[in-house]
Amino acid sequence: MRIGIVGAGTAGLATAWLLSGSHEIVLMEERDTPGGDARTISAHTGGDTCPVDLGVHGVSDQFPLWSRLMRSAGFGPDDLLPVPASRTLLHHDQERPYLVSPHTPQADRDREVILGPPWEALKSLSLEATRWEDEELHGEMTVEEAANWPQPHEALREEVMHALPASVFGCTTHDVAHLSARGVGGFFAAPQPSILEAAPAQHLRGGTQRLALALVDQLRTTEVRLRARLHRLERHGDRFTMIETSGHTHVVDAVIFAIPAYAAAAALQSLGGSTRLRTVLGAFTYQTIDYAAHLDPFGMPEDRKHWSTTNVTVHNGWSETTTWYGPGHDTDVFVSQFTHRRSRPDRQIARTSFRTPLPTPAAHCARRRLEQCQGEGGLYFAGAYTRTLNSQESAVASAVDLARRLTHANDRMGQLTN
Ligand SMILES: Cc1cc2nc3c(=O)[nH]c(=O)nc-3n(C[C@H](O)[C@H](O)[C@H](O)COP(=O)(O)OP(=O)(O)OC[C@H]3O[C@@H](n4cnc5c(N)ncnc54)[C@H](O)[C@@H]3O)c2cc1C
Repeated sequence: MRIGIVGAGTAGLATAWLLSGSHEIVLMEERDTPGGDARTISAHTGGDTCPVDLGVHGVSDQFPLWSRLMRSAGFGPDDLLPVPASRTLLHHDQERPYLVSPHTPQADRDREVILGPPWEALKSLSLEATRWEDEELHGEMTVEEAANWPQPHEALREEVMHALPASVFGCTTHDVAHLSARGVGGFFAAPQPSILEAAPAQHLRGGTQRLALALVDQLRTTEVRLRARLHRLERHGDRFTMIETSGHTHVVDAVIFAIPAYAAAAALQSLGGSTRLRTVLGAFTYQTIDYAAHLDPFGMPEDRKHWSTTNVTVHNGWSETTTWYGPGHDTDVFVSQFTHRRSRPDRQIARTSFRTPLPTPAAHCARRRLEQCQGEGGLYFAGAYTRTLNSQESAVASAVDLARRLTHANDRMGQLTN
C-alpha cells in the first residue's frame, strides 16, 4: 500500500518507522524539522553549548514502548540523564516560596527545603491521583467529583493540588476542578518521577528532538516532506489525493493523521462524508502555552537556595513554570511559560508556542468515539491525544496500535512489543 502520514511528531515518526519497509510512505510535516512537541535548541552560555528542550523534556525508562524505540534508534541507558524532580511553589508577589521540595541529599546542601502543610497537600495530590488510577475511575468523572482531599489540605487546593495540573495543561487553577480525574491523575500518580520522594526525572542527553532525527535517519521506503502542510484531502474512488498548501499532490491508499485533532478536522473540512469525524475531533479542546528559553533568572525565587528544577509561580488564578537547567545540566539556562505573566525574561534566547490538549470529560468520550472510527474508509488517527495521558509513551503506543492494524508482524514491531 501507499500510505500518507501527516505529522512528524513522535506519533507520526514512530508510525512511519514501524510501517516503512512494509509499505510505501509519504510523511508530511509542516514545520522545517521533525519532532512536533519535541523541540530542542542550542543555548550558548559562557563558551559552552547546552541543548535545551522548549517543549517535551521529561522522558523515562519507565515508558516501556518509548524506551524500546529509543534503544532501537541507537540510544543506550547512558543517554538518559537523571535530573532531580524538585519543585518550588511561589506566589508572584511574595519573596519566600511556600514550598521547596527536596532535591537530592547532596545538592540539598546549599538549599533551604520548605515543607509543612503544602508538602503534605502535595502528597495528597499524588495519593489521590494514584487512587484514581488504581480504582480505574471512569474518564468522565471530574477532579471535583473524584477528589477526596484530606480536610486540613482543602484550603491549599488551588495553590497546590490544582496549581501543578494547571501549569501542565495551561488552564486556570479553577478549571482543573472540571478536568477528567483520570486525565489529570496520570501525571501525578506513582510511579511517575515521584513527587513524594526526590526520585529523579530523566532528560535525553542532547535533547528530545535527537530521537526524532534518529528515527528519520532509519526510515525506509519513505519520502519525508518537511515544510509540507496538508491543506486538504480529496477522495477519488478507493484512493485519496493529499494536497499540500504549496499545491503538491500525493495519491495514497490510506491516510494516517498524526496531527492534533483541530488540525485533522481542518484538513478534513472539504472531504465529503467527514461530518461525523469532524464533530468527534471538534470535541477535543486545546490550550495555547507560550514558552521562552532565557539566561536571566526570570520566574525563579529571589534567593538561589530556594531554586528547584521546576519552579511554579501562582498568580491571579494561573500557574506557570520556570524550568532550571542547573540540576543535571549544570548551567543557568531557564525555560519559562509566560502566557499570562505581566513581565517577560530580559535575556531571551528563543520563544515558541504549543497547543496542548485539555483532558476534559468530553475529550474522554471523543477518544472512545474516535477509536470506533479508526480505519473507516481508509482514515486513521494516531497521536498522544488519542490516549488518556498526553505523553511520549502514549504517542508511541498510538503508533503501535495502528501498525498492528496496517502491517503483519515485522522486525521493528518485534523490537517494540516483545
Ligand atoms: C509544552 C509541552 C511539553 C510537553 N512535555 C512533555 C514531557 O516532558 N514528557 C512527555 O512525555 N510528554 C510531554 N508533552 C506531551 C507531548 O505532546 C507528547 O509527548 C508527544 O510529543 C505528542 O506527539 P504527537 O506526535 O502526538 O503530536 P505532536 O508532537 O503535536 O506532532 C504533530 C506534528 O504534526 C505537524 N502538523 C500539524 N498540522 C499539520 C498539517 N496540516 N500538515 C502537516 N503537518 C502538520 C506538527 O507540526 C507536528 O510536528 C508535552 C507537550 C507540550 C505541548
